[in-house]
Parts: sequence; C-alpha cells; structure tokens
Amino acid sequence: MFITDIKYYRYGTSLKKPFKTALRTVEVIESIYVFIETNYEDIVGVGEAVPTYVITGDTKGGIEAAIEEVFKPLLINRQLTKDLLDEIQQIIVGNTSAKAAIDIALYDLLAQEAELPLYKYLDHNPGNKDLETCYTVSLNEANEMVEDGLRYVEEGFNHLKIKVGKDNVETDLNRLKALRNSLPNNVILSADANQAWDEQGARYALKHFDEADLEIESIEQPVGRYEYELLGELTQSFNIPLMVDESLFSTYDARRLVEVGANNLWNIKLMKTGGIHEALKIHDIAQSADIHCMVGCMMETHVSVTAALHFSLAAKQVNRVDFDAPLMVVEREIEGGIVYEGAKVSPSEGFGLGIDRKSLYKKVSS
Ligand SMILES: [Mg+2]
Repeated sequence: MFITDIKYYRYGTSLKKPFKTALRTVEVIESIYVFIETNYEDIVGVGEAVPTYVITGDTKGGIEAAIEEVFKPLLINRQLTKDLLDEIQQIIVGNTSAKAAIDIALYDLLAQEAELPLYKYLDHNPGNKDLETCYTVSLNEANEMVEDGLRYVEEGFNHLKIKVGKDNVETDLNRLKALRNSLPNNVILSADANQAWDEQGARYALKHFDEADLEIESIEQPVGRYEYELLGELTQSFNIPLMVDESLFSTYDARRLVEVGANNLWNIKLMKTGGIHEALKIHDIAQSADIHCMVGCMMETHVSVTAALHFSLAAKQVNRVDFDAPLMVVEREIEGGIVYEGAKVSPSEGFGLGIDRKSLYKKVSS
C-alpha cells in the first residue's frame, strides 16, 4: 500500500458552554482533520490536530504549513511502513500537534492494513482495564461549580477535575470545599493548576492543600513547564500527589522527570508527544520507573481522542483517562470511534480507529 495524497480541513465544533481554565476560555473546538489517502480507494487514514498555542505553540496556520511544506513532500508516493512513524518525528523540530495528526492517520492506516482495531495492533504489554473518564468542572462561582458538579455526578462521572490557580488559594479551596461538602463521598476530586504558580506560590498553595483535608486525589502541574527540579522537590516535599502535565512532552522530559523525582503521576497527551509512537516510548520510561499515567486531551474532538483511547488500552501504566472534551460539544458530529456510556469509555467496532471516515470527510470538506 502506498500513500497517494494528504488532505486537511479546518472545522469548528461548538461547545454547549464556554470552557474556562486559568489560561483561556474556549467556545469552539478548532480542529484540523487530516486524511491520508492510499492507492486503495477504500482505505484512508484519519487524524486530528488542534491549535493549543498556549501549551504547544501550535497555531492553525502553523499546523497546516507543517503538513503542506514538510509532511506532504515526505510522505506522498511512499510505501506505508512503520518506519514512517520515526521519520515524521525526525524531519521537523516541535510541531507536535501536526505530528500527532499525521501519526494518528498513519496508525489508522497500519491497523486497517493489518485488519485490527488500533489497540490490538499496538498491543503494547496491555493491562486489562475498564476506563472511566473524569470530567473537568469549568471555573465559575462556587455555587455554579457545585451545580455543574452535581449534574456530572448524576450523569455517571465519579471523578471531577477542578482548575485552580486563576484566583487566590483561599478562593480555590473554598470552591473545592463547596464541592466536597455537596458531592457524594465516593466522588474523586482532583485539581489542575496549569503552571499557575511560582516557587513561593506553589509552596504556599501545596501547604494549604495538604492541610485542608479535602481528600484531593492529586494536583496537576503547579509550576512552569521548565521547572523540572522544582517539580521534583515539590513532589518529594508535600503529601498531595503531584501530576506532571505541561512539563512532559518528550522522552527527554520523561527521563529528566525521573531523574529529579517528579514521579507520582504523569499526564500524557498526544498533542504534546506528537502522537502515539512517542507516547509509547514515554510510557516505557514511566513503566521502568513504576509511574502511573493518565492520558488526557486538549480541546479535541472524537478523532484524536479515539486515538488516545486506543493508546490507553494498549499501554499498561495508563490507569486513568481524561477524555471529557468531546462530551462538551453541542452535538456529536463524528460517527464511530470512542463510545461514551456515562463515564465509561470504550472503542467501537472496526479496524484502525473505527471512525466513519467517509462521513467525516464529507462533512468537513464541503
Ligand atoms: Mg493539565
């Protein structure tokens, strides 16, 4: 099988309610869907990139330029082989979102060629698991967050994530207290600071989170992306488990994080790693250091989140997922792929990602 063309389209999917974090407010998920065509008319690989420039540096124009100027010349007229997965990582620095879209589409093709669902094609020392997604409660006044939280619990979500760090620590703790006091006891609450604090701010916040006795399961990325040593120190100094997110893009980051002791929990996202191929390598470093991983997503839709699900099913260290973004859209526009039943996530039937590629192509190309 060889690659004949690569097409890509911008497409916006509206959210039911604006999604607010410490860094930004999102009303529409802006995806770039990628289609890799082959000499078999029926076999197309599909991928998705999103421009999360505040985290990855990737913009819509940048993603499209990387595909047009770098990946098309590299891939068109090439035989489909696994070697291409390494080549797309090596040919350009950064651009992890464009790489992720291409990597996902190549994996979709490889698994279709092998006539296997993608997680079986990957089959990377998998653990048997049922996965449930957590749900992020958007930042608002405490009473609105409690209302939202109660609704999500009623819909079957047992793990809620709360964004912190936008306001002062007392406000954050008041929100968490309000949620803890209103939600059933078995609901897991975790927090995500998205790099909000400097060293002093992080030490102050973590001390108060430790003392608050709210049974917060973990707190994500208290400090900036390049603060590896500080992340290690904080991990070792406080009781509350720390999860690394924005500091973990590459295998280089993963090795650094192990060295400095930032080893509680890691959050792997395909838009940071440049796709599944690199995510598997990061997973192996986590495994050798006995670190458990969450797999998360940016504001993405069902294509790239389905790829993240297949990776999660195939990778042993992954014991939790954060795939809530597709649940926030007004209406599901993509057929096939990830299936949500309450918080439970599972793959659909079909080879590769199991996405209905034809109907997606029709929708986004018209
Ligand atoms: Mg995060």
